[in-house]
Amino acid sequence: MNSDSQTIFEKHSFNPASWLPKLDGSEEKALAKLPEESVRKSEPHLPSLSELDVVRHFTNLSQKNFCVDTNFYPLGSCTMKYNPKALDAIAASTAYSQIHPYQDEEDVQGALKILYEMQVVLSEITGMEEFTLQPAAGAHGEFCGLLMAGAYHRFKKNKKTKVLIPDSAHGTNPASAALCGFKVVQIATNAKGHVDVEDLKRKLDGDVACLMMTNPNTLGIFEEDILEIASRVHKAGGLLYYDGANMNALVGICRPGDMGFDIVHLNLHKTFAVPHGSGGPGSGPVGVKKELIPFLPFPRILKKGQKFSYEKNAPHSIGKLRSFYGNFGAIIRSYAYIKALGDEGLKGVSENAILNANYLKARLKDIFDVPYNGFCMHEFVMSAKKQKAKGVKALDIAKRLLDFGVYAPTIYFPLIVEEALMVEPTETESKETLDRFVEILVEIDKEINENPQKVLGAPHTTPVSRIDEVTAARQPNLRFKS
Ligand SMILES: *Cc1c(COP(=O)(O)O)cnc(C)c1O
Repeated sequence: MNSDSQTIFEKHSFNPASWLPKLDGSEEKALAKLPEESVRKSEPHLPSLSELDVVRHFTNLSQKNFCVDTNFYPLGSCTMKYNPKALDAIAASTAYSQIHPYQDEEDVQGALKILYEMQVVLSEITGMEEFTLQPAAGAHGEFCGLLMAGAYHRFKKNKKTKVLIPDSAHGTNPASAALCGFKVVQIATNAKGHVDVEDLKRKLDGDVACLMMTNPNTLGIFEEDILEIASRVHKAGGLLYYDGANMNALVGICRPGDMGFDIVHLNLHKTFAVPHGSGGPGSGPVGVKKELIPFLPFPRILKKGQKFSYEKNAPHSIGKLRSFYGNFGAIIRSYAYIKALGDEGLKGVSENAILNANYLKARLKDIFDVPYNGFCMHEFVMSAKKQKAKGVKALDIAKRLLDFGVYAPTIYFPLIVEEALMVEPTETESKETLDRFVEILVEIDKEINENPQKVLGAPHTTPVSRIDEVTAARQPNLRFKS
């Protein structure tokens, strides 16, 4: 820093050094208090660069990333919709970003009011009685929900050891159930892509604590037998858990609570417009029916008269799942999104998500095999088995799409579809973008017939080409090499 800029900082009383307490004694004395190995022996090798060099470096780095803001991102099950920038601006407002969770309840009534209203709004959207906003993601919500299911059954002195999960489920479902000490029992999918009720009947007994379901399921198909399934599970003394990752197909149209689900998680970062990818921060609120309220994580936000406060006492609660009340910034974004869209807007989101998926499916079904080819909800699963017979796999097609500037669909999931390509266009994409996606896939299919090497060697134009994903996962080398 040269002397001129120091004067400017001082003139505007922006002198961070003045915020710190004065050193008590000399620097040597302070250093002497540190353990020997923590004291630096030589000056650090900090790069000396101009602002322009730094801006170019980070701008170039950012352009090596793929994001919804630059290109189409049809990653099935992940709902990579466009997230309006206004939501970021609202969350960044000092009213929300400059408050502290340790502030007195009296000082943050506005923030507590938003959290409380969010609990109410999410209950209304899902048909549940109460919500917790603590879980930080969908998987965390599953963990929370299954801990509550366990606590509920222990309280009722029910001996329950098993959790039933369809074979189309996301991997986090069995992982969460196992983490909570349950034995996982798999339920088959029938030829229509629904949970096989016959198989469910065979496996449903008095030991079942819970059935976990995703509806629409990961094939993008609505589980039409849900009312019968719910009634059977309840009769056997079990609970129903709703994995809400696919809620983008249902908001404003129907509610898991009305279908008979007792515990619901939502992924705010999928359905309610919180930017995601690369690991967070997300938000996975969990809603419950009345009989499970006592087991919700502690503390809930309560309203008494016009005052909002943290719950002080909850003897049956499963406890705290996360610091304070969850990822506040994510909750603010979703709250603003829900308020801005209103009832009709939210319904429009789901209707357009469903329309876009059905349009794409209709246009792609002659190129790819679509094993469950009925009406789909917000996503559908194609199979590249015809292409595999010619030596090109779903993975190769996914990699080739990157050369055309399109993100790859989810591949090899759900596990029950051979060479699966799971496409979720979301409601925010235009017909032009969807048509371009079809044209690109038509072109790739032509390449498979005429010049398969082009697809097998893809991607050709990205900063890194085909990587050895297994080695990258097992022995990650995180050092940047130019
Ligand atoms: C994304 C997803 C999850 C897990 O949610 P996270 O927020 O990523 O933890 C669970 N189930 C399904 C069907 C999903 O798509």
